[in-house]
Parts: sequence; structure tokens; C-alpha cells
Amino acid sequence: MKITAADVVVTSPNRNFVTLKITTDEGLTGLGDATLNGRELAVVSYLRDHVVPLLIGSDPHRIEDTWQFLYRSAYWRRGPVTMAAIGAVDMALWDIKGKVAGLPVYQLLGGASRSGLMAYGHASGASLPELFDSVREHQALGYRSIRVQTGVPGLNRIYGIASQSGPADAGAERYDHEPAQRGALPAEEDWDTRAYLRHIPTVFEAVRNEFGPELPLLHDGHHRMTPIQAAKLGKSLEPYDLFWLEDCTPAENQEALRLVRQHTTTPLAIGEIFNTVWDFQSLIKEQLIDYVRAASTHFGGITPLRKVMDYAAQYQVRSGFHGPTDISPVGLAAQMHVGLAIHNFGIQEYMQHGTKTNEVFRQSFTFEDGYLHPGDQPGLGVELDVDEAGKYPYETAYLPYNRLADGTVHDW
Ligand SMILES: [Mg+2]
Repeated sequence: MKITAADVVVTSPNRNFVTLKITTDEGLTGLGDATLNGRELAVVSYLRDHVVPLLIGSDPHRIEDTWQFLYRSAYWRRGPVTMAAIGAVDMALWDIKGKVAGLPVYQLLGGASRSGLMAYGHASGASLPELFDSVREHQALGYRSIRVQTGVPGLNRIYGIASQSGPADAGAERYDHEPAQRGALPAEEDWDTRAYLRHIPTVFEAVRNEFGPELPLLHDGHHRMTPIQAAKLGKSLEPYDLFWLEDCTPAENQEALRLVRQHTTTPLAIGEIFNTVWDFQSLIKEQLIDYVRAASTHFGGITPLRKVMDYAAQYQVRSGFHGPTDISPVGLAAQMHVGLAIHNFGIQEYMQHGTKTNEVFRQSFTFEDGYLHPGDQPGLGVELDVDEAGKYPYETAYLPYNRLADGTVHDW
């Protein structure tokens, strides 16, 4: 079997997506997600100009060899653009292999280790009553685990607060329920870490009082704290028994987590912007984290995601794959197959794509009673409707950024 075509499809139904579609001489096709939120077109060029020409004529069955070829032959390794491009190829080849075998990808990875994947949704509110409503809405949708983000008194615009509640379809001002927004320039938000550190423990105390001790609660610090600030927050949240505290410090400094770990037993999750196993090396080996937040899309696909989880398993570190809406239905499916197969699955982030996105990407997965399952279609279980995708041309969109009161740009 040979690869005869590899097309890069850019579409913006409820948000921008970049999808690689590989076609073989036997007529089989495979899909890969190459979406890099806010920098989408860089990956399009990397694929079209530098990767697709290398794929034509090659054997789609050689997944490991293709991955190593694309990673090593470029000389320039790592980075989100490179790894999103390689990830898309990797996913597409697993998709094809599954279709050849007549099996869902999780079967090729060793078969199911559980009946479903516990998923968490994003509850948020500018105020406590809004937050409580949002938690209840998510529970009504079946979620059994909830991420909690709120406004901070004194700050006008901060991350993680949905402009409309509920993960239903995209509204007029909504960019598929995540912080990026269409427009020529990124939106500017406010930040004050001291105000945040004072406020958040009171939020979790209120949520525990309202919803009781059993509901697993998560929180995302979005890389905004220094190590000692993160340690303080982790400690102050201990009475509220978080499932995890995510991205508490800027992710590129693995050593920062040592200090945080010394001071708190709140479980830690990090890694949504990591691209290779090397970014996790110290964190896993020194058991500085509890959950790997990598995404199939930005980590080079299914092949390396499986490898990092097998490494993490030796240290009782579990998965918590990144699943906002900028991970396309293809990327989400890829990590659902991995999550179902590995023993050390932890939880899966699941924000739910908008209606238009679900019309462009026809999907086989199910979400029932709080649990995801990728379905049993051969391959990844996602098909791209190219005609439908063509209705939604790319639109410039950026993640917001934030400044402190004195105008200093802060970590996003
Ligand atoms: Mg995060």
C-alpha cells in the first residue's frame, strides 16, 4: 500500500481547525488533527510545504518509521508547529491501519482497559451564583467531574470564564466555548495574582459547601504563579480535596514543581503545551506531578502519547489529556483511543464541540453518564465532510493575553 495524496483541510465552523487527510492507492483515507490554536497557518505551511511531499509514495503501515523519519530527518526537533504536523501524520496513519484491520485504534493499542473514560467539563461563572448554575448545568449533561473557574473581585476580564454558560452551540459572540476569539488582534485581559490567591480558596469552600465532598473538582492556574505562590495555593486548597491543580507555574521550568511539591499534597497536573517526552522527563521521574496533560495533537500523535504514558506508569502518574475545543474531533478521538487502552488512565478533559463542528466532523464516540467511549468503528471513528468544511473558510483568531495593573505582560 502507498500514500497517493495528503491534503491539508482548513475549516472554521465554530472555530479554526487544520486537518490532514491521507489517501492511499487502495482508496483508504486517514485523518489527523494539526490544529495549533492561534497559530494555525504555520502548521498548514509546515505540512503542505515540507511534509506532504515526503509522504507521497511511502508505505502508510510504517507508523513508527514515519514518525522517526519526520522527527529526526528535519534536524530541527520539537516545538508546537513541528509536533502538531508530525502528530497529524501519526494519527492519520493509525486511522488507516485501523481501517485496514477492521478494528478501532484502541484494539490495536492492546484493547480496552476500562468500559469508559471519566470526563470533566468546564464550569465557570463571574460570581458564585453563576458558577453554581454552571456546575448544575454540567451535572445535568452527565458530567461527574467538574473544573471550576471564577471571576476574581477587582479584575474585569480573566481567563476561564465562559461568556455564555453551558457547553451547547456557539452563540453570536462565542468562539466555541474557549478563550480564543475571532478578530485581527488578541483581546487584552487583567491579572493580579495576589487577588486571585485570596479569592480562590473561598470559592472552593463555597463549592464544597454547596455540592458536598464527593464531586471531583479541578482547577486551572494557567501558568500564572511563581513556585512559592503555587505552593501557597496548593496548601490553601488542601481542605477542599481537589482532583488536581493544573498548570500552577509556567510549564517550561520543570524545576519549579519541586518547590510546589515540597509544600502541598494537592495533586498536580501539567503539560498541555509540552511537545515531547523530554518536557516530562524530570516531572515524571521525580514524581513531581500526578497527571500528564499532553494532547495527541501537540505531542506528535498517538505513538509518543502512548510512550509517555507507559513511562509515566512506572511512577504511578496518570493521564489527563488536554481536551479543549481547539483539539479537533480527530485529536480528541485519538486520545480517547489511547485513554481506553492504557492502564494508567486518569481523566479526560471534554468541553464539547459546537453543532457546526459536529456537522463537519462525523464522529462515532459516545458520552453517556459522564463517560466517553471512542466507539467501535474501524480506525479513529471520525470522518471529515470536505464539502461541509469548505463552507467555513479560515478566520483569524487569537487567544487573549493579560497585563498586570502597571501594564506588564503576564503569563497566559
Ligand atoms: Mg490548562
